Amino acid sequence: MENKSCHVIVLTYPAQGHINPLLQFAKLLASRGLKTTFATTYYTVNSIDAPNVHVEPISDGFDEGGFKQASSVEAYLESFKAVGSRTLAQLINKFDASDSPVRCIVYDSLLPWALEVAKEFGIYAATFLTNSASLCSLYWHIVNGLFTLPVNPEIESLSLPGLPVLAFHELPSFLAYPTSHSAYLAVVMEKFYRLTENDWVFCNSFEELESELVKAMKGLWPVKMIGPMVPSAYLDQQIEGDTAYGANLWEPTTDQCLKWLETKPSGSVLYVSFGSMASVSDEQVQEIAWGLKASNRPFMWVLKGSENKLPGEFMDSIGETGLVVTWCNQLQVLAHKAVGCFVTHCGWNSILEALSLGVPMVCVAQGTDQPTNAKFVEDIWKVGVRAKRNEEGILTRKELYGCIRQVMEGESSRQVRGNTNKWTELAKKAVSRGGSSDRNISEFLAKVMERNK
Ligand code: UDP
Repeated sequence: MENKSCHVIVLTYPAQGHINPLLQFAKLLASRGLKTTFATTYYTVNSIDAPNVHVEPISDGFDEGGFKQASSVEAYLESFKAVGSRTLAQLINKFDASDSPVRCIVYDSLLPWALEVAKEFGIYAATFLTNSASLCSLYWHIVNGLFTLPVNPEIESLSLPGLPVLAFHELPSFLAYPTSHSAYLAVVMEKFYRLTENDWVFCNSFEELESELVKAMKGLWPVKMIGPMVPSAYLDQQIEGDTAYGANLWEPTTDQCLKWLETKPSGSVLYVSFGSMASVSDEQVQEIAWGLKASNRPFMWVLKGSENKLPGEFMDSIGETGLVVTWCNQLQVLAHKAVGCFVTHCGWNSILEALSLGVPMVCVAQGTDQPTNAKFVEDIWKVGVRAKRNEEGILTRKELYGCIRQVMEGESSRQVRGNTNKWTELAKKAVSRGGSSDRNISEFLAKVMERNK
C-alpha cells in the first residue's frame, strides 16, 4: 500500500546510464511503501515504464531534443539549472497543494542545483552518486586539498588513502584532461564542495566491493553505499516481476537477441558493447571486427550509430556466428547462459551488471571514469583484463584477441570466473534483507517516514 503522506521525488539526469540506477532506486522506494515520483525531462519521460512509480516531466529548456539542441555542454547545463529549478519547484508546489506533499528530493549528483530547491522548501535532500565511491573519493580529495589540478602528466603515480596506486592514464579523464571537460568538471566539483549540506549522500556501489576505501573514509565523508541498483530479479530480491530497469531511450532488439543466443552453447558468446554514449572511429570498428573474427567465437555486438562502419567483407564472412544490433536489453543478454565474456567500455552500470550477473570482462576503456573502473576490474576485483591501446590510441585486433583468450581459456579464465562468482554472491548479500546496502536504505526510509512536515 502506498503511503501518500510520505512522498519522495527522484530526479534524474536524462542519460541512460543515469536513468537506470535512479529509476531502480525509485522502484525500490515505491516497493517499500513510499509514494515515489520519478522526474525526468520531457523528451525522455515517455521512455519510462515503471508501474509503481509516478512519472512527471521537468524541463531542461530543450523539450524537443534535449542536449542535442543545445549549442554547447555549458549552454545545456546552464539552461537545465535555470529552467529545471523552476519546473522542479512548480512540481513540488503542485504536490504540496494536494494530499501528498513532498518530503524529500533524491537527485542525481549531476544536478547539484536541486539542493537549493530542497532547501527553499525545507525538505530533505539526498544526492545520488552514479560512479564508484573510489572514483568519487578522488574529487573529494581535491576539495579537501590532498591533491590539486591539473595533475602533472609526468607523475609516476598518485597514492591516496583507500585507493590503489593510480598511474596518470588510470585517472578519470575529467582529472587527467580537465580542460576538455571543463563544464562537467565544474558541476562535479560543485557537488563535492557541497556534499555535507545534503541529508544523505548515496552511492551506487556496495561496501564489500570497495572495502579498503570504506575503511579509509570512515568518519571522513557522509557517503552511504546502497547498490548495486540492478533489477531485483537478477539479485534474488523481492520486488515482484522486476526484470528490467523500465527505461529504454532506444528500441531494444530483445526477441532477435534472445533467439540468437538460444542457438549458442553455454558460456561461448562474447557480448560487446560500449554503452550509450561512446562513438567508435572507423579504424577502431574494423580492428574490433577482425579481432572478434580471429577469436573464432560467437559474438553479439551492440554498435549504436556505427553499424555502417563495418567492412562488407567482414559482414559477409560472419554468417550465424555474429549478431550486430543497434541496442539490446543488456541485462537479459548478460543474464543469458550462452554469454561467457563482456567486452565493455567499463561504464559503471555495465560493470555492476557484469559483477551482479557473473560475467567476466575485457575492458576497452575510453574516457570519463572508465580507465579508473578498468583498473579496479583487473587489479582489485580480478574479474577481467584491460586491453591496451597502441600509440595511436587504437585497440588492435591482435590485442583484443589476446585479451579474449585470457578471459575465455585456461587457468586465467578459471581464475576470473571464480572471482566474478564471488562478487556476484557478495552483491546479492549486500542488497538482501539485513545486508550492508539494505541497512543503509532502511535507515533512510525510517527517517523519511518519521518526519512530520
Ligand atoms: N544498455 C542497454 N542496452 C545496450 C547497451 C547498454 O540496456 O545495448 C544499458 C546498460 O545495461 C547500462 C546502461 O545502458 O545500464 C549504460 O550505462 P553505463 O554506465 O554502462 O555506460 P554509459 O552509457 O553511461 O557510458
